[in-house]
Amino acid sequence: MEKSIDTAALHKWFDENRRTFPWRENPTPYRVWISEVMLQQTRASVVIPYFERWMELFPDPQVLSRAPLEEVIKAWEGLGYYGRARHLHEGARQIDSQFSGKVPSRREHLEKIKGLGPYMVNAILSFAFHQRAAAVDGNVLRVLARHFLIEEDIGRSAAKKNIQVLADEMLDAKRPWVTAEALIELGATLCQSKPLCDVCPLQSSCLAFKEDRAEEFPVKSKEQPVTMLTRSVAVIEENNSILLRKGVLGKIMADLYEFPYFEGLDRPLPQHIGTLWGLSTSFVRSLPLVQHSFTRYQAQLFPIHLRALERKEIKDYEWIPLERVGELPFSAGHKRVLEHFLKRMDPQLTLF
Ligand code: SF4
Repeated sequence: MEKSIDTAALHKWFDENRRTFPWRENPTPYRVWISEVMLQQTRASVVIPYFERWMELFPDPQVLSRAPLEEVIKAWEGLGYYGRARHLHEGARQIDSQFSGKVPSRREHLEKIKGLGPYMVNAILSFAFHQRAAAVDGNVLRVLARHFLIEEDIGRSAAKKNIQVLADEMLDAKRPWVTAEALIELGATLCQSKPLCDVCPLQSSCLAFKEDRAEEFPVKSKEQPVTMLTRSVAVIEENNSILLRKGVLGKIMADLYEFPYFEGLDRPLPQHIGTLWGLSTSFVRSLPLVQHSFTRYQAQLFPIHLRALERKEIKDYEWIPLERVGELPFSAGHKRVLEHFLKRMDPQLTLF
């Protein structure tokens, strides 16, 4: 049986219902690239202010490539998974040096750019260059798995490849980029985990709807369990400076500043710091508990404000004056610790 969808109905629905986003209004290759990377992180409504600010700061690949990495990370702050911001910076440098500052339009060139995986390459080729390429994200996987009752586990790469082939075949001959974007939009708005089949333009051909089995699809293997982390966080202050460590390259929080923290302590924090670093501190106060999640971790941070009795150099850490901390990128959890700390140091002080 030949597999097909009602492309005309899908296009009509998309033309009438597509949501307005800044990156859709002027889909240059650079804007598509940046928006798609941001959209990997969070919902479109959250991305909008980040995207607009990014475009003001770094309007094209050259400006991005020449900006200090710390500024790039700072603009990304809050979106999480900072490796993506670093890849954008590296990718912009490649574009600047190898492609005369222009995002290339050939698949083999795009594939060489740092951080661009198959989805992103297809999204740029399709939305910006109007080439025949289906950008298959989780939305498209869900729509097509339901529409064709695909029993394979969509977490497996073989299933993803099969759906990619299927999606490529679905593309309209004249406006392939519209089919590609409409499938994503359909998955993001109507064919969500609770599908709104009654108003779906693909209802007449959708097998899951016909068999009333939409919620059984897509088939997915069990997700990785969440790991709980409990950390004691030391906010050590000395003469209006605080002790901070910059994340280690290759680790989850690379490029972000964090307070010293410890897991599984069996003695009071000041005592631990004294033994570890020979740094004498006195307890000032406990700060409010901060909870935050990243990748598959859920962390509980128990911050304590300590005052160092002397300034001592600690390997891998820096004493940073309080007036500078607002300029630095922090991981989400440690940023909240910093806010609590500053509020108590000086109630007038606010970050950023
Ligand atoms: S009819 Fe329902 S299950 Fe099928 S594509 Fe539309 S929303 Fe999804």
